[in-house]
Amino acid sequence: MNRPGRDGSANVEQVAPRTCNRRMTPGMVKRYPAAGPLLGYFICCPGCGNTTPHVPASEHALIELDGKLFECSEELTCTICDRVLTVSSGVITATLPKAP
Ligand SMILES: [Zn+2]
Repeated sequence: MNRPGRDGSANVEQVAPRTCNRRMTPGMVKRYPAAGPLLGYFICCPGCGNTTPHVPASEHALIELDGKLFECSEELTCTICDRVLTVSSGVITATLPKAP
């Protein structure tokens, strides 16, 4: 399987919702621009550098602190490199899933 990039981690850097995905660098996140309750985040993967949308199954999975993404209680998966993305204490970590 083609999995670009490598495992890595980066501090969360929250950018404005209007920021173009292609200008985002690993660790950058932006909130869905929808009005109303928080739906999800675009996350620039520390593994492969691509920005993909992430909407957790539970609306309570995402925890923000001081208006920034701080914690996610669900594992997210980068759709480009298949790495598992975890968000904990303001740090995003991308790791390949363990072999079955
Ligand atoms: Zn990735």
